[in-house]
Amino acid sequence: MSASISEQAQALVNSVQRVAIVGAGTMGNGISQVFAQSGYEVVVIDPVDAALERARGSIETSLGRMVKKEKMTSADAESALGRISFESGPEAAAGVQWAIEAVPEDEKLKEKVLAALDEQVAETGVIATNTSSISITRLANFTSRPQSFVGMHFMNPVPMMKLVEVIRGHRTSDDVVEATVELSRRLGKEPWEAADYPGFVANRILAPMLNEAFFALMEGVASREAIDEVMKLGMGHPMGPLALADFIGLDVCLNILEVLQEELGDPKYRPCPLLRKMVAAGDLGRKSGRGFYDYS
Ligand code: NAD
Repeated sequence: MSASISEQAQALVNSVQRVAIVGAGTMGNGISQVFAQSGYEVVVIDPVDAALERARGSIETSLGRMVKKEKMTSADAESALGRISFESGPEAAAGVQWAIEAVPEDEKLKEKVLAALDEQVAETGVIATNTSSISITRLANFTSRPQSFVGMHFMNPVPMMKLVEVIRGHRTSDDVVEATVELSRRLGKEPWEAADYPGFVANRILAPMLNEAFFALMEGVASREAIDEVMKLGMGHPMGPLALADFIGLDVCLNILEVLQEELGDPKYRPCPLLRKMVAAGDLGRKSGRGFYDYS
């Protein structure tokens, strides 16, 4: 328990028992898993039945892997899974004290989802978003509670990655920021605060680095393998930038660079033409079977 947080923040975190995670995709299922592993009751909401089924399957597989590696007992894995329910409509979030939105990175869709969530979450509750690049301050305006709206940016794969970027919108209260930091710690994560600027910290720094790797490849500075190995061997990165971009998704990389370019207005963020061409061709990385490398 953290000594430095206000009584209100402490009370807010202590009031959280059941959480709603909206969007059962890559991030939603990982976030649901870490909450359930930490003892919280979780309701995962997604209108697509197949997405809910996939989420249940991925969580089961991921917990199974942890049991195999002796990081948890099979009884604990079973009870974690038992704490998660899978639902299709926002009503399932009725009365929760904490909700996290993890639907696709589309502001219009997030507006609809956040407005519906605002009607369900307890009046005293918090709504967080896992957005990678949309302004927290702007998303907060889609709810009636900008003071209780916060960015909670988990990294993929969520059960493995320690970081949570906690992003304070222009009107987010200190208590809510402190409560978000404390809640992230209770999930076993290491939270770090960032202000609401495009890309926050992680993507502000990562995206231009990946973009520079795309330019280096396009200009023939080195082969894809050489670019990746130089960054692995020389900089200690666990993955080279081109392999990492394939893992993230080239469409996602393009989207983040476009947000940085548009909102910061600096041409240094212009997306590499090779990236644009690959996205237009449908070569999106691992998820499409081909990106800078072939996964077929
Ligand atoms: P995803 O496409 O894997 O999953 C999104 C899910 O949302 C899908 O299952 C979809 O059916 C569901 N959905 C669509 N409309 C919905 C609605 N109205 N209500 C409820 N669910 C709905 O997306 P993702 O990769 O999990 O990304 C989710 C968010 O997390 C995005 O904002 C993204 O920018 C952010 N993010 C992604 C990553 C990553 O590496 N994938 C990392 C950090 C943050």
